[in-house]
Amino acid sequence: MDPRYPRPLKIHLVSSTDSPEFTDFTQSLTRSRIIAFDAEWKPIRTHQSSFPTVSLIQLACQLISDSGESDDSVVFLLDLSSIPLPSIWELLRDAFVSPDILKLGFRFKQDLKYLSSTFSSQGCEQGFDKVEPFMDITSIYQHLQHSQPGRKTSKDIKSLATICKEVLGISLSKELQCSDWSCRPLTEEQKTYAAIDAQCLLEIFNVFQAKIIKEGCLIHSPTESTVNLGLKEVLEKLDVCNKIVRMKFHEALDIVRATTSFIYPNIATEEGMALRTRPRNTLPMDELLVRIVNKYGEEILLNDSDKRARTSKRKSKRRSSVGLICKEKQGQSFEDWQGPPPWDLTLGGDGHPKFLCDVMVEGLAKHLRCVGINAAIPYSKKPEPRVKNLLKNEQLLEIIETFQLKICEDQLMSRCTKCNGRFIQKPLTTEEAVEAAKGFQRIPNCLFDKNLEFWQCMDCNQLYWEGTQYHNAVQKFIDVCKLNE
Ligand SMILES: [Zn+2]
Repeated sequence: MDPRYPRPLKIHLVSSTDSPEFTDFTQSLTRSRIIAFDAEWKPIRTHQSSFPTVSLIQLACQLISDSGESDDSVVFLLDLSSIPLPSIWELLRDAFVSPDILKLGFRFKQDLKYLSSTFSSQGCEQGFDKVEPFMDITSIYQHLQHSQPGRKTSKDIKSLATICKEVLGISLSKELQCSDWSCRPLTEEQKTYAAIDAQCLLEIFNVFQAKIIKEGCLIHSPTESTVNLGLKEVLEKLDVCNKIVRMKFHEALDIVRATTSFIYPNIATEEGMALRTRPRNTLPMDELLVRIVNKYGEEILLNDSDKRARTSKRKSKRRSSVGLICKEKQGQSFEDWQGPPPWDLTLGGDGHPKFLCDVMVEGLAKHLRCVGINAAIPYSKKPEPRVKNLLKNEQLLEIIETFQLKICEDQLMSRCTKCNGRFIQKPLTTEEAVEAAKGFQRIPNCLFDKNLEFWQCMDCNQLYWEGTQYHNAVQKFIDVCKLNE
């Protein structure tokens, strides 16, 4: 039992399809009404023209046990670095779209994009394009807040750690989040961390479901709506509601018992594999869950553009070795640049502009970084003038025009101006940023409650946020680089 988690967790690492854990996994899929998903991938430091490769999927399955109880759960960690992906693609896709399984996730669309691209690149071209029925923990959290009368609701997008703390009273450790998830074997801490991240989603949902049962608003027929009832009246009705819930639950149990008797023997003899060819091998949801799904359920759809990795403004050009340009030969006076630039493909370059700016044009280096161009400043003691213009903005335009650099708006603010580094993949929330900034950077109080996105440099850890200054700077570079023209 993990000291940070109040309940013992059942964790199974699945590393091959030829293992007892895999059999256990396929059986559990057929016995799950609710599955919480999460995924881990190796944090990327360099630009990649594709999404990061997911190396682990966590599935926390809420199981219906043989006796019909539904409070048992188990977490499977699917090791995508060792399982041949085509052997589990269908299984996962079926689970993603099964009407019998409610899927839970925390801001899961991004995970799904990465999963889809990981599977596409390894023999499952279709990837994944749909998760339904689905509920996002962020929406569940908002419903939980709204249902507390008089409570001020926040528009902030809270981190999962905060939601867990508030709803479950437990503290999630985030220190392993950026660990290398592609290294094997996974440490015990990594396994526990990964499992908790999925398990806590189930538990948050259970709190939500308990609340719905308590408030009874989904139990009555539409004509008996409790929408206009005060808290007191709701409480008075509670006893009645509980009876109705119990009754419905027993009806559901009867269905479950009736179904299990002929489904389980098949699972046992065919070890779960043949089940994939059957149209419906899962157990139907109970009535309460059906009502929750009908009222609160969402879907995640990936279209073709979602599946393509864009050169986003946060991760664009590959950071490769720095080329030297703007260089005049000793003894020659400065002349306009002629011919293709040194990074040109025909000259054996990699097509990515990079600049080495000496300390005389340090300001220009920062401006170049602001528009997403790789610009290094070497520790040179002998400054020589290399651009004609004296002002940074004009120097920047001079360089852009001389080398015919194509700057697009996506590139703006995509590099750390302090060190030329690249940013993390996912923005941080204010709270995460405050935590990340501890000890070296202060996040001004005035930024709280503004629902800003924070970006951290992967090299020097400097934090940036999209406040007024950011927007002014973007506008300025749009003007300087003449992107509007
Ligand atoms: Zn930096």
